[in-house]
Amino acid sequence: MSAPLDDRGNSFELAAPTGRQVFWRSLGVQKLMGEVTAQEQSKTVGLETGVALAGGGVGLLIWNYVIGPYVALPGIWDSLAQPVFAVIVAMTFWYFGLGYVRRRRASDLTEVALNAGRCASCAYELADLPTEDDGCVVCPECHAAWKAERISPEEPPPDAEP
Ligand SMILES: [Zn+2]
Repeated sequence: MSAPLDDRGNSFELAAPTGRQVFWRSLGVQKLMGEVTAQEQSKTVGLETGVALAGGGVGLLIWNYVIGPYVALPGIWDSLAQPVFAVIVAMTFWYFGLGYVRRRRASDLTEVALNAGRCASCAYELADLPTEDDGCVVCPECHAAWKAERISPEEPPPDAEP
């Protein structure tokens, strides 16, 4: 998978979510994950769910064929162990798959970040920065370049169609 490109064709890495965002995102608590992360998740939730379900399936199989035959748990624990193990494997797949999922959706996530007025590469606030001759705003932190009209489109660009 090739790296995403900024508006001058240079490759960049998407800004990584913070630990706090990842935690609330794993639980799907939109209020606490932050608005940008919530918008971002709306673009990736299908793939994220697919990755987690694949992990859950792998967990069920591992328990069935690899671990289960060697453990005998008392009472209800015996029937709970497999689903609990599957959920843990599903969460592990989700956690380590998140980078892959976000790269697959890089152009959508770039849009979300720029709509929020932030650099897609480092999350730096891009408001009030000068626009260069080619129409790009250059991030002072990471030097990624973004077309000025893509940043915070709540303010309509001057040449917008009526
Ligand atoms: Zn940046």
